[in-house]
Amino acid sequence: MIFKGTKVSNGYAIGKVKVIHQQEILVSSKKVDDVIVEFNRVKKAIENVVAKIRDEKRLYSNRLNVDDLLIFDAHITMAQDPEVLSLIKLEIEKNHESAEYAINKVFDDVIKTFQSLDDEYFRERAEDVEAVKRKILCELLKIEEVDIDNIDEKVIIASYDLTPSQTARLNKNNTLGFITETGGVTSHSAIMARSLDIPAVLGVKGIMVHLKDGDLLIIDSEEGLVILNPTEEQIKEYENKIRLSQVYTEKLNLIKKLPTATLDDRKICLAANIGNLIDYEKALEVNSDGVGLFRTEFLFMDRPSLPTEDEQFEVYKTVLSGMNPKRVVVRTVDIGGDKKLEYMPLPKEMNPFLGLRAIRLSLTYKEMFKTQIRALLRASVYGELAIMFPMISTIDEIKNSLNVLDQAKQELLNEGYEVSDNIEIGIMIETPASAILCEKFVKYVNFFSIGTNDLIQYTLAADRMNEHVSYLYQPFNPAILRLIKMVVDTAHKYNRWVGVCGEMASDKYAALLLVGLGVDELSMNSTNLLYIKDIIINSNYKDLKHLAQRSLMLEEEEDVINYLKEHTDI
Ligand code: PEP
Ligand code: MG
Repeated sequence: MIFKGTKVSNGYAIGKVKVIHQQEILVSSKKVDDVIVEFNRVKKAIENVVAKIRDEKRLYSNRLNVDDLLIFDAHITMAQDPEVLSLIKLEIEKNHESAEYAINKVFDDVIKTFQSLDDEYFRERAEDVEAVKRKILCELLKIEEVDIDNIDEKVIIASYDLTPSQTARLNKNNTLGFITETGGVTSHSAIMARSLDIPAVLGVKGIMVHLKDGDLLIIDSEEGLVILNPTEEQIKEYENKIRLSQVYTEKLNLIKKLPTATLDDRKICLAANIGNLIDYEKALEVNSDGVGLFRTEFLFMDRPSLPTEDEQFEVYKTVLSGMNPKRVVVRTVDIGGDKKLEYMPLPKEMNPFLGLRAIRLSLTYKEMFKTQIRALLRASVYGELAIMFPMISTIDEIKNSLNVLDQAKQELLNEGYEVSDNIEIGIMIETPASAILCEKFVKYVNFFSIGTNDLIQYTLAADRMNEHVSYLYQPFNPAILRLIKMVVDTAHKYNRWVGVCGEMASDKYAALLLVGLGVDELSMNSTNLLYIKDIIINSNYKDLKHLAQRSLMLEEEEDVINYLKEHTDI
């Protein structure tokens, strides 16, 4: 039998299935007398669940990358949603319902609202709300979640549903793959599957009733297929596919040591984006040409207070010395927007992405900024440090940032510390203002790094977090390509180098286009790095320049994408 689901990660698996049955939680109406006691039970349960999610996040912080860890924050936000809480309160006070019933009812209403939306992304958020509801009910009813950690044989896991934290707990050595009936491409279990690099097919509707422990299954996560009780022929076919994909992985391993250059010898720096020491280890594993973006704000999150100068220094020193002599571009904190610090209450803003964010926040909280710069300067003697300021939009901001840098340096020298005199300084090009005026910024910096995630959102005026306008999030829009080209040409005129460290750099077509536009460094998540390297080292710069020239002349993003698909053989 062949079932169709949604492709969410890569690879194939053949193996016996282990069916995980989640305990069904039944909640019926039960009237209570003391509404205050009842509401306190809700608050206590939520408090405990939030603490547990925080513990889980800490526990998995050495298995997941920083982006995936944000899922736990999303669940905390949902558990603490003040509107939901006040509806629960109302249900208890007005109808004298039990805590369990009120939670079940209010969360179910939210789930139904999400499910009724047209947008797939929002429909998938319903599953997150369901996971959070389940956690709170389990807490109230003292139900233990299914134990997924202790599976001791190599199996394919099948479950109606897997929460992101259950997915994070999957033992990679014993989990050949997993399938669920719920979930889609952007569901958080799917994101985890990609991060853990486990073949998975989600949204396989109706499969569970057909499965029992020990059944033989094939998972084809390239096509989103699940084959139950495959024929000999199908098994052979998939054994062959597994062999071929192993050969490809081995091939990628072989290119780790090769220099990153096109066939006609245009050298590219293929660097890694990191946010913590786990990401740094992954960068070492793929032998990246350095670190092109260290998102340091992650060192400031999930802790009770600001990291001290010494704490920061230790992390920067580890990364700089481990990467030495390769360059490490450290970006000063980019807090604000969607990245909040629990211990630093900031004013609520109508448009956080247009508000007190990144360098604007650092220049407002100068002591915090200076502490970070001091830690960086002290670490500078251990490797090749480059310091980069995020979201610069005016010359004044760069001047003020450089002033803080000078002050910190002077202080350290007076205190007897050594500071490298070979530190490169750069800014991120994330606003149209900095791109348009880059000729004026050039004299203050050694390099530019284009943050396409933000440059796209600010140029097309489309909030990068808002799925309703995601159609405007267009990396290949000729407007973006022309801005990038302008920055590259200007920088090269003044002998400065240019990197791209937004998500765009890890897309195969975009990577080729960026090289063709003359970008010197591409920086990306380590998971994609060797794949992109393979594509670059098998291309000709001469051809890529031509592709880029033609793309710049087109009208729409779609034209560029079609043109690239037609004129490349990747
Ligand atoms: C960017 O904006 O492209 C970028 C790399 O920064 P972040 O994604 O952290 O905002
Ligand atoms: Mg950015």
